[in-house]
Amino acid sequence: MNHMRDIKIECPKGHGKMVIRQTTEKINFRGVSIKFPVEQYLCRVCGTKAGTAEQTDTIQKAIADAYRKSVGLLTSKEIVEGRRKMNITQATLAERMNVGIASIKRWERSSIQSKSMDHALRIALEGQSIGDSCTGNRTFSIPRIKLVIKEFESILGKHILKKNDKMLFAAKYLWYADMVAHRETGESMTGATYAALPYGPQLNNYKDLIEDIMKADQSEAEALSPEEKRIITRIALRFPEERMAYASAHKEKIWKKQSNGAIIPYTNSSELTGL
Ligand SMILES: [Zn+2]
Repeated sequence: MNHMRDIKIECPKGHGKMVIRQTTEKINFRGVSIKFPVEQYLCRVCGTKAGTAEQTDTIQKAIADAYRKSVGLLTSKEIVEGRRKMNITQATLAERMNVGIASIKRWERSSIQSKSMDHALRIALEGQSIGDSCTGNRTFSIPRIKLVIKEFESILGKHILKKNDKMLFAAKYLWYADMVAHRETGESMTGATYAALPYGPQLNNYKDLIEDIMKADQSEAEALSPEEKRIITRIALRFPEERMAYASAHKEKIWKKQSNGAIIPYTNSSELTGL
């Protein structure tokens, strides 16, 4: 913030030059009480305070970082430093995480990443490709999700994708299909990322995806291989009732050991016990 010292601001009420004052502000942000440093111009005569646009930016960043620190998310500085330590560009980090470069730029400024994206950031900054860990070595495909669900439905003889059930059961079948496929073929079936939620493994961002999955055309997806079909059949026969897939998923230690909202990495697929 040294550049500020070069800027001279006059009090709008005509009291001459304002001085820079550093204070610590305390606010409640997203339910968390946070403190952050603020630099503002102050008129010593009348007490008028002023900030430049750049200062406003700095304050936003300070709030976001104080919040991230207090809830255990990587701060913008930690993301930048982690990237420098790995000697990778924003584009490379974005590629490793399967996100757009705009997301990286935002997080390195003052946007707060979700808990699952924070987990993905940490993995990528440790040098692992997120493709291995979060997508199971396959490009994410919504039509493929639909195709896998349709295959389950044809074997089970019922609908598991329902409009208002938050994919409560469909996600469990999908998760098993992706995890078992990763364990046995080295590749997931759909490239989906799963988060550990209180009601079991769930498709990450399912709220944003569910509409698209409902509307997706499975004929646009790469056809299932015989091995993939065998895996889906095995899972469907093992869990003929949706409740059984749900209950089994809740016994999996690879779900249990993750904190709420964290990604369940595919690299744990060898520890599955239900199948
Ligand atoms: Zn003044």
